[in-house]
Amino acid sequence: MPRDSRYDILFEPVKIGPVTAKNRFFQVPHCNGMGHRDPEGHAAMRGMKAEGGWAVVATEEVEIHPSGDVTPYIEGRLWDDKDIPGHALMCEAVHRHGALAAIELTHNGTSVSNLSSREPAIGPSHQMTNYWPWQARAMDKQDILDYRRWHRDAALRSKKAGFDIVYVYAAHDLSLALHFLQRRRNRRTDEYGGSFENRIRLFRELIEDTKDAIGDTCAVAVRFGVDEKMGADGLLHDGESRDVIGMLAELPDLWDVNVSPWRHDSAVSRFSEEGHQDQFITFVKQLTTKPVVGVGRYTSPDRMVQLIKRGVLDFIGAARPSIADPFLPKKIEEGRPEDIRECIGCNICVSGDMTMSAIRCTQNPTMGEEWRKGWHAEIIPAKQSDDRVLVVGAGPAGLEAARALGQRGYEVHLAEATDDLGGRVSKEAKMPGLAVWARVRDYRLAQLDKLANVEIYRDSRLSAEQVREFGFERVVLATGARWRRDGVGRSHWNPIPGFSGPQAFSPDDIMEGRLPADGPVVVFDDDHYYMGSVIAERLAMAGLSVTLVTTGDVVASWTANTLELMPINLQLRRLGIAVVTAHDVVDFDGRSVTLASNYGEPGRAISANAVVAVTSRLPEEALFAALQAEPEALREAGIKSVTRIGDCLAPGFIAHAVYSGHRYARELDAPPQGEVSFKRVVWAPAKP
Ligand code: ADP
Ligand code: SF4
Repeated sequence: MPRDSRYDILFEPVKIGPVTAKNRFFQVPHCNGMGHRDPEGHAAMRGMKAEGGWAVVATEEVEIHPSGDVTPYIEGRLWDDKDIPGHALMCEAVHRHGALAAIELTHNGTSVSNLSSREPAIGPSHQMTNYWPWQARAMDKQDILDYRRWHRDAALRSKKAGFDIVYVYAAHDLSLALHFLQRRRNRRTDEYGGSFENRIRLFRELIEDTKDAIGDTCAVAVRFGVDEKMGADGLLHDGESRDVIGMLAELPDLWDVNVSPWRHDSAVSRFSEEGHQDQFITFVKQLTTKPVVGVGRYTSPDRMVQLIKRGVLDFIGAARPSIADPFLPKKIEEGRPEDIRECIGCNICVSGDMTMSAIRCTQNPTMGEEWRKGWHAEIIPAKQSDDRVLVVGAGPAGLEAARALGQRGYEVHLAEATDDLGGRVSKEAKMPGLAVWARVRDYRLAQLDKLANVEIYRDSRLSAEQVREFGFERVVLATGARWRRDGVGRSHWNPIPGFSGPQAFSPDDIMEGRLPADGPVVVFDDDHYYMGSVIAERLAMAGLSVTLVTTGDVVASWTANTLELMPINLQLRRLGIAVVTAHDVVDFDGRSVTLASNYGEPGRAISANAVVAVTSRLPEEALFAALQAEPEALREAGIKSVTRIGDCLAPGFIAHAVYSGHRYARELDAPPQGEVSFKRVVWAPAKP
């Protein structure tokens, strides 16, 4: 299909200083947990974006010096010439598809650990480092000159590696250039502190140095966080940030603007909508003639067109939408925007960076697997046999298995017990703030609709006998899991006394509309991810008085990895939900629960008419057990294999389930992979 002419504007080339981007799609810098540790994986992942049509593909932040070492986080590194080849690999991968490669240089000043280099941290003035209980020392004049030299050297190395665009970074409360600009951090009394002109001096010098070093052939971009969302202590989009852009307006070749810190920039969909940054960045284009790029989890091409036409942006920036669908631009270009796999704003991608593991994505199971497993984001090998496949259960695992198997050309039959497709995703998407998560289901249903070789049966709860009656060679069980009501989980190996009967509920009860008749309700969260807070919010919205008790030291502690910890905790307080942290629930007598402190304080009781256990889940494995119980009957039915995938194998995130379904589809009839199913770089001794 030719592309819709309404979207032509998105495919106009745009000049950025001495280079030209072939269209307006710009993959802005984003972390990925691979960085300097996994250069092959990193290069292949960026190359996939370029293949998918992004005109510019950027690195994550790249450290320019050992004193700017962000260990344990795995970002890019360009400390000296030894780091050039790893970056050259990415540039080659990006250039192969006609895209421009960009590098985000940074020295993170007071936000570093230097755990690896063991250098002292540096900053504009003596102060605590941002994340560690030790201090950064104030830089003297020589330090400032050294820093400028490191940045200039890194720019020259970037050019040598093959980059087309070199960033000067001043966003997310992270870089020295920004730290000097921030009034609260910069307490200097020399020409680099005090007045606005003095505080911005170093930022301006860095841009000038970079232009001077590589500006003849490379574009110089600036990434600037225009609002720190912390009131007068921080930069404000309607305050000093206007002066920054006004003063430096024409100096860089491109402005990449956003809000800070990272949790506001990559805000989760539970608390923010597509385009949530628009109001903060609209002013930028009024102050500069240079191209402007901004982000806002944009996945709608109509909205993108509007942003360009309204003069808000010149480039549609994306980190997460490009992770969920590296082929987003190509799909618009080829006239099939309905094929876009839209980001759901869950930030599982961010958790890769936070846990120092390679990036992953709920929507895109191939993300991070481009090199290690050779998984292409859009192409999948054709089927290797005429085996027919019965998939049981249409949650995220079953839907993705059916979709990918169908794409390979297998004859697939997908049976779902209920009338509703989507499994847990459909249930969770009805909870407060999670509506966008339905995209996991909707993308797959739209794709399945296009596959003539996939048949879907609703209202079809299959028994073992019915599975055998189908008589297909391959059976895939994606029957999911159910939350327990009895409180067994991390803290309890046995049921909690009283967690049974009509006053005990599970998250499935609440999601399926079975709510306690009256409160107060105690939600016991021993899971520590989002579900406890979502259930508490749902009950509060139903008018019930709710206390959330958690064994964690903070509510939803794991959500620190998805940048939701703060908004979740704010939301609970805003809704009047009482919170008790660092306590276990030890029993429930129908009128109150008894709590035990993690730290030995005396036990206490709080009144409760009902309890909800958010503790753990049990796989729905009865069908598997019944099939396994009669191996002879399976053989007679011609069934070669019965395989569990997703939550019915091991309950996990939606991302685990999608990955599991995709993996099954990839590995069916593929050659055996051995015990390690992915490539890795292993140290080997030099040959004598
Ligand atoms: P996952 O996350 O692994 O995809 P879900 O719990 O989201 O798992 O989905 C499992 C789906 O399987 C649910 O929609 C459920 O109704 C369905 N299901 C469970 N048992 C059967 C069965 N015996 N036959 C058909 N569908 C089933
Ligand atoms: Fe979007 Fe979630 Fe994928 Fe990140 S993990 S790109 S937020 S769908």
